[in-house]
Amino acid sequence: MARFICPRHGRHTPGFILATRKPSSNVQSFYRFSADERLKHVQSFSGLTEEEVETLRSGNLGFDRAQRMVENVVGLFPIPIGVATNFLINGRDYLVPMAIEEASVVAAASHAAKLARGTGGFMTESTEPIMIGQVQIVGCPDPSSAEREITHDRRELLEFANKQDPLLVSKGGGAKDIRVRVLPSLVGTMVVAELLVDCRDAMGANTVNTMAEAIAPLLAKKSGGNARLRIISNLADKRLARARAVFSKEALGGEEVVDGIVQAYAFAAADPYRCATHNKGVMNGVTAVCLSTGNDTRAIEAGAHAYCSRNGQYSPLTVWKKTGKGDLEGSIEIPIAAGTVGGITSVHPIAKVCLKILGVKSARELGEVMAAVGLAQNLAALRALAAEGIQRGHMSLHARNIATMAGAEGDEVDNIAELMVKDHIVRLDRAKELLQDYRSKG
Ligand code: NAD
Repeated sequence: MARFICPRHGRHTPGFILATRKPSSNVQSFYRFSADERLKHVQSFSGLTEEEVETLRSGNLGFDRAQRMVENVVGLFPIPIGVATNFLINGRDYLVPMAIEEASVVAAASHAAKLARGTGGFMTESTEPIMIGQVQIVGCPDPSSAEREITHDRRELLEFANKQDPLLVSKGGGAKDIRVRVLPSLVGTMVVAELLVDCRDAMGANTVNTMAEAIAPLLAKKSGGNARLRIISNLADKRLARARAVFSKEALGGEEVVDGIVQAYAFAAADPYRCATHNKGVMNGVTAVCLSTGNDTRAIEAGAHAYCSRNGQYSPLTVWKKTGKGDLEGSIEIPIAAGTVGGITSVHPIAKVCLKILGVKSARELGEVMAAVGLAQNLAALRALAAEGIQRGHMSLHARNIATMAGAEGDEVDNIAELMVKDHIVRLDRAKELLQDYRSKG
């Protein structure tokens, strides 16, 4: 655990980073710090400027900027950013910014990451950042010969595609291959030409769409058909991130908990009703990092769920096994179409600060962090479900929301929430009763 003299209190505060030491994300009781202390810690960990700290604290996007992002703007919708602590990934410490409205997710990720630290944290890897652009060609007189023509002329097609984005090519990316599929469909056989584009540090949708649109007329000519749709596929199964971690049975609370988690995983693998919730838990983490870094949450979610169904049965994103020693080993494989450049990642002021906090150097590294967070999130949920039930952990934050809904303000919120949790009755009617009682006593 790192120690530092708290700039605010001038005393040793557990968890603050000593400036001269390698920063650690292992921060004891981060949740007990005041918001200012947390911000100081993050600032010191990530080297944020005062201006960046202010951007984060205020959450101010600016109305003008918002108006340039989408249409018909009438307002902004703020979401809290929590920082998950304790993440050790490939031997490197990360503080992970998560933008999310749901209580307990950030705490759960931090807790699971802490459990993984004792056994070396998360090990990750990823494929090259290849996205697929599809061009649909209908009305081909001879689909098989269209397939042959396109495959034969692939060099020419790739060259033309790459002329659309010299900057990407200069970074080592660009269109790398074309594959062709002859697809039976409701309206007859169609030919689908698929451009495989290495998007480097960009998510790539605009780039890939531009390339697909550019080569579509050539494809129509070579195939003798009509080019219709020209668009990226969100099933990014050539852009995978993987993470793996071992959790000791002692850290988890015993071998029975390990067995419970393996059984919970088996349940998800056997049943789509359970599996949807299993994967939702994974995506709690992945989507929160995706959003905080200004990436496209819908793209990643569509890709993840489609990937889970690739074999015809909806399946879990993670796999959990008991090791020979009785510990728990978890792994995840997930398509991550996320960028560190392009889209709004480099223009949204808060996304820029979040990327700086993460300190990732490439889109692949970002994807691997997301995979690790997804795995951690899943572990935390399964452990809670297998050991004590999910509600216990959820209750205190939920109770605060209910107290606020009942009209509690300031200190009243915590006091009313505490009373409800103590009595195990967390309901709006009870919160209103308690609030009335509290206020009547002055
Ligand atoms: P973009 O076009 O803004 O940026 C990508 C460009 O950045 C590249 O073409 C390249 O020229 C340049 N670049 C500079 N440095 C680079 C580097 N190191 N690596 C890679 N490229 C580099 O954005 P994009 O990533 O092509 O598109 C992302 C956006 O598209 C997202 O906002 C997404 O919401 C949106 N979108 C998504 C879909 C979909 O998912 N179906 C469809 C349409 C649009």
